[in-house]
Amino acid sequence: MILMSLHPIVANVWILRGLGANIYIIEGDEGLWFIDVGSPGNYFRICDLLERDLGIAIEDVIQGVILTHAHPDHIGNVSDFAIETDAKIYIHKKDATFLDVPKRKLVLLSGGEEIKVLGTAKIIHSPGHTPGSCAVLMKRILFSGDTIVVRNNKPVLPKREFCTDFRQTILSAISLTEYRYNVLCPGHGSPILENADKEVKLASEEWKKILEYVDNNSIRKESIL
Ligand SMILES: [Zn+2]
Ligand SMILES: [Zn+2]
Repeated sequence: MILMSLHPIVANVWILRGLGANIYIIEGDEGLWFIDVGSPGNYFRICDLLERDLGIAIEDVIQGVILTHAHPDHIGNVSDFAIETDAKIYIHKKDATFLDVPKRKLVLLSGGEEIKVLGTAKIIHSPGHTPGSCAVLMKRILFSGDTIVVRNNKPVLPKREFCTDFRQTILSAISLTEYRYNVLCPGHGSPILENADKEVKLASEEWKKILEYVDNNSIRKESIL
């Protein structure tokens, strides 16, 4: 088990590990933002850590929480963020039904939105892992949620059994090669800090083969039925 720890990734961006999925913390002129908030029961631990290591009182400066999707290890503390702070909670409308957050705090996304975080954060709908999965592209950093995760410093697909629609997950992961970014911040695994888009492009050749395999298999299944 990884102990809870906070590390800088690039200027103004930190990763908090050890609480389920990776939590990303961004502090810019526009205030404090979170991308994903980890597994349940940890809100006050997160507050204590930010106060201790960054001298930040979350409730004073937080503007928003962007959720890449509604799996429990990513949204675990979101009710606390909604109750304890003025943060708005951003999530794709197709994943929003899983959230226990007052309606007035929710901002429902469809993909394509641009939010003011360190300049501009673009929301990219990347369905498949869940129907409402989103990636966030911000200042040459791609936050990929669980559409692309990292294992042994390589971008890889999430496990098939955790995806609502694996074929669609592969298509979404491949479509993330269309963007330019230097850093990849995945939902699980360590961030890739340089030339991440090239790494993703390289990995996507493998993903295309997996897609072919998935398609062939489903055709074979259909012909048996
Ligand atoms: Zn996850
Ligand atoms: Zn997930």
